[in-house]
Amino acid sequence: MIIPDTVNIGRFTYTVDFVEVVNREKPERIGQIDYVKQEIRIDESLTDEQKVSVFFHEVLHAIDQMMCIDLEEKQIVQLERGLYMVLKENDLLKE
Ligand SMILES: [Zn+2]
Repeated sequence: MIIPDTVNIGRFTYTVDFVEVVNREKPERIGQIDYVKQEIRIDESLTDEQKVSVFFHEVLHAIDQMMCIDLEEKQIVQLERGLYMVLKENDLLKE
């Protein structure tokens, strides 16, 4: 799957950037979303599959925030894995 440069989530348009360091204060971070700047940052050193998975993870955060669902991080991770699994099993990630 080709990760887009921008992604529309409701009325918001998020830019998607691949960066060397996602968060200088939390160097272990591989992905991050900024709701104010409308920016998704993904670690550029990840594999293509990991990047796609992290991309969906951050999109799920955006949906959660927009819909005021208030999911916990663990639930976002579970949804990310489930969504990625279905897309992969059904060959929907091909470029
Ligand atoms: Zn998260």
